[in-house]
Amino acid sequence: MHATLPLMRQYGFPALRRKRLEILQLNLGYKCNQSCLHCHVNAGPGRTEMMSRDTIGDALAFLGVSGVRTLDLTGGAPELHPHFRELVVRARELGVRVIDRCNLTILEEPGQEDLAQFLAGQGVEITASLPCYTEELVDRQRGKGVYGKSIRALKRLNALGYGAPDGVLPLNLVYNPQGPSLPPGQAELEADYKRILGERHGIVFTRLLTIANMPIQRFGSTLVSKGQFDEYMALLHRSHRPENLDAVMCRATLSVDWEGTLYDCDFNQMLGLPLRVDGRKRQLSELIGRDLSGNPIAVRDHCYGCTAGQGSSCAGALA
Ligand code: SF4
Ligand code: SF4
Repeated sequence: MHATLPLMRQYGFPALRRKRLEILQLNLGYKCNQSCLHCHVNAGPGRTEMMSRDTIGDALAFLGVSGVRTLDLTGGAPELHPHFRELVVRARELGVRVIDRCNLTILEEPGQEDLAQFLAGQGVEITASLPCYTEELVDRQRGKGVYGKSIRALKRLNALGYGAPDGVLPLNLVYNPQGPSLPPGQAELEADYKRILGERHGIVFTRLLTIANMPIQRFGSTLVSKGQFDEYMALLHRSHRPENLDAVMCRATLSVDWEGTLYDCDFNQMLGLPLRVDGRKRQLSELIGRDLSGNPIAVRDHCYGCTAGQGSSCAGALA
């Protein structure tokens, strides 16, 4: 795979500093029931990296004193972590909103038969990738049969109240473009998704989140191989909107890898570009009770992926 971090200093990105922390995002490990071609962490059934129980304890201690109100769980398939349910229950006891970045097919895995009921019972918000509403494109990007399983999972979640208009159990879907282009308008695409999934399958969901492809990891490497990297970077750079700088997710999110190391965002985690406090990279355990407001953010040219056009974050468009 081509390393893309060395290519991220061509344009220069405006300096950013942290604001008050709102979201703690934990990558629980790389084990996954799927092995998607585009997976940015190369997750799969054979991966064994898992966040330790001690680090999970650090995360709960951090939540307990920081005033952070949202815990965002990702992986791999975060639900495969042996302490996933315990973490969810304890975070909810602290009154923290929990988001599960769920691949949907996990609901059909052996041993996960009661997962949907558990998530609903705990009031966990679900954010799930569905890169298109057609079977062909979903199966091409995420593996054969994934579309059918995803549709069955969405119907099960709907039956439990997920995605209903009352908003009690939010169910968000995530779209990202197939290639080196910016996502279309989020509101318009959401209307298309709602109409087509509703007409074809009777499925309802809360919001569609459109996310730009970052020129890093496997996607960035593929662009380099195809000779499209410079062109895509130029597109991101010329589409930059300064008004998006205030809302980029790193300003209010802290990202933690499975080993407990801190990053300003998930993308920097994938690039191996850690958050530094007083010039040193840090572990979550070191910063319990410490306010990170004003700390400089590690920015590079990939950051234009967050500020191009309507803007992009783990919570969709910024505009
Ligand atoms: S479901 Fe997500 S974490 Fe799992 S292999 Fe696919 S992209 Fe990676
Ligand atoms: S890539 Fe990360 S650090 Fe850069 S602007 Fe986006 S969220 Fe912030």
